[in-house]
Amino acid sequence: SAFRKLVVANWKMHGSLAFNQALVEGYLQGLQALPQTDVVVCVPYPYLAQMQSLLSGSRVAWGAQNLAKYEQGAYTGEVSADMLRDFGVQYVIIGHSERSTAYCESDENIAEKFMMAKRHGLTPILCVGETLLEREAGVMERVVGKQLETIIRLFGGGAFTEAIISYEPIWAIGTGLAATAEQAVSMHQFIRDTVASADQAAAATLKILYGGSVNPQNAVQLLNQKEIDGALVGRCSLDVEQFIKICQASP
Ligand code: PEP
Repeated sequence: SAFRKLVVANWKMHGSLAFNQALVEGYLQGLQALPQTDVVVCVPYPYLAQMQSLLSGSRVAWGAQNLAKYEQGAYTGEVSADMLRDFGVQYVIIGHSERSTAYCESDENIAEKFMMAKRHGLTPILCVGETLLEREAGVMERVVGKQLETIIRLFGGGAFTEAIISYEPIWAIGTGLAATAEQAVSMHQFIRDTVASADQAAAATLKILYGGSVNPQNAVQLLNQKEIDGALVGRCSLDVEQFIKICQASP
């Protein structure tokens, strides 16, 4: 890979002020011995201010788990890109499957959120991936291809310049059953090729992470593939020791 490995923590709807403080202090301490790995922590909205105060000036960046597709207005319960910027946010997860299935988010909605993040100088972490049924039917590339094509069709391949895509097979998220390195590498190649055929230069700047039941054991194999630029970590990011071991697994 052309990049330093990037490990993104997705806390989902977990945490409290006290729990978070102990967790990020543990991250910072453990990361002292790991200068080769970049780390981002994606927290629930109410804790962005806490991350700004605990992590400013450190090597850990923070992010949100969603954003509104509108600039501002009568959208009760939504949070805008400018609001995230107010709290020093640099990254935002877009289209996580726990949102796209539970809240019926369409590919078009996801594409608009992706561009909203980019327009405001936030780095989008776009989640793509297939269901188990789709993998069993052998149509996983068609499914992921369609998720990428929606953005390419609306905004062009240049939209992926310096963006991040996380390949997250839905069957692997929170199930304990990670993709094999072979399955992940094959999809990562497909993703980079798809972006490259729309915009070669953009594809060269795109980081592609793997997400789905990453743990300290499987991280070694996954993170040592040159096609895998890093990991998006859910459950194991809530435990300092496991998270640091995953960061340690990256070359
Ligand atoms: C995720 O939140 O996208 C994720 C991959 O979770 P887990 O690591 O728990 O499977």
